Parts: sequence; structure tokens; C-alpha cells
Amino acid sequence: MTNELADAGKAFLQAALCILLLIVYFVPTMIAVRRRKRNVTPIFILNLLGCTTVGWVIALAWALTVERVDLETNEPDARTRAVPSGGGTSCGRCGHIGESSARFCASCGWAM
Ligand SMILES: [Zn+2]
Repeated sequence: MTNELADAGKAFLQAALCILLLIVYFVPTMIAVRRRKRNVTPIFILNLLGCTTVGWVIALAWALTVERVDLETNEPDARTRAVPSGGGTSCGRCGHIGESSARFCASCGWAM
């Protein structure tokens, strides 16, 4: 009786340890999802394939890299930025606002 109870306890501990290891294993993917990374899928795949410690470390490092999006929150895209009231033409390629008489973008050379 006591032996059966001990076995059940051991099985429970093993299951709990497996779950814990699984959670720790997917830490890189969880970080990537939490930080709303654009490349969650490749990080997840690398995490999944990263059975070796090297792959796991790469996935973790990738998840922790800073993207430009993190720094520019709520910044409107250059293409949708409003043209100033003084007049001017917004470049369809880079968003640079040049004089309305300009035929080419001063920033990238695109035809206005
Ligand atoms: Zn341009």
C-alpha cells in the first residue's frame, strides 16, 4: 500500500518535471510571442529543432534582439504621413515630402 502510494507520488513528480522542462524549453518562443516579434515562426521552428543547446541558445538570442518596431511604437508609416499644410508632394516610394513643383524626390530620386 505504501509502496503504491510512493510510486504514484514518483509518477506525479516525473510528470510535473516533464511539464516544467517543456515550459523552460519553449522560453525563447514565449519571449518572441510576448514581445510581438515579426519572426515568431522562424524562432519557434528553430526552438523546436533546437534539441541541441546551440539551437536553443540561438533561438533565445533571436527572441531577445531588438527590432526597429519596438522603438517606433505608434509612429505612422512614412507613406501615410500627412502632407504639411504649406503644400508639397509626398514621395510614393520613400515618403519624403518635397516641393509640389519638384519632378523627382530629393531623397530617393523617384519620379513624383
Ligand atoms: Zn523618395
